[in-house]
Amino acid sequence: MAEQQTALRVDDEGFVIDTEDCEEREAAHRERGTSRPITVVGNPVLHKECEDVTEFGEELARLVDDMFASQRTAEGVGLAANQIGVDLKVFVYDCPDDEGVRHTGVVCNPVLDELAPELRVLDDSNEGCLSVPTAYASLARPDYASVRGQDVQGNPIRVRGTGYFARCLQHETDHLYGYLYIDRLSKRERKDALKQMAEGTPRYPVVAND
Ligand SMILES: [Zn+2]
Repeated sequence: MAEQQTALRVDDEGFVIDTEDCEEREAAHRERGTSRPITVVGNPVLHKECEDVTEFGEELARLVDDMFASQRTAEGVGLAANQIGVDLKVFVYDCPDDEGVRHTGVVCNPVLDELAPELRVLDDSNEGCLSVPTAYASLARPDYASVRGQDVQGNPIRVRGTGYFARCLQHETDHLYGYLYIDRLSKRERKDALKQMAEGTPRYPVVAND
């Protein structure tokens, strides 16, 4: 226990540098953690705002380890705590940006920054979610995002990303406020995504809905 957790360095604009030692950091979490099954659409924990993190201790550190382990098992690029059934505002990510650079980290109590209109360029790439297994749909989202929140020790942090990683930051923050990406689709597209899910078989353990 009591492993030395050093805070990530920040760049000259105050954003966390989350591109260094990704493999080592992700592996350390994952190897300490236990993989847990993923909750799916319809589970109440996914459809309400999660509680704020207020205790930055060992329990939170263990949760984050389990989240990295679960994310790896499910081959995800991001995972919110409610996706393993925990009602707390935490997400982890291990995600490439649009230049193929890997970003790895944790954000507690994330809040998306409002984008200046001139920065708001929409990208309508495909999106999927471990909690809507085997379904994909195109969804327009800004191709740049920044969030503010806290690290596992409670220090304030800011994280920013472009491309696929920007999509991930928005998608995971949405989760913690009770929204799935399918909630942002048209009625018809949502129905189609749920049909894809009904017809597919997840490649990782999921929590059955009652
Ligand atoms: Zn998701």
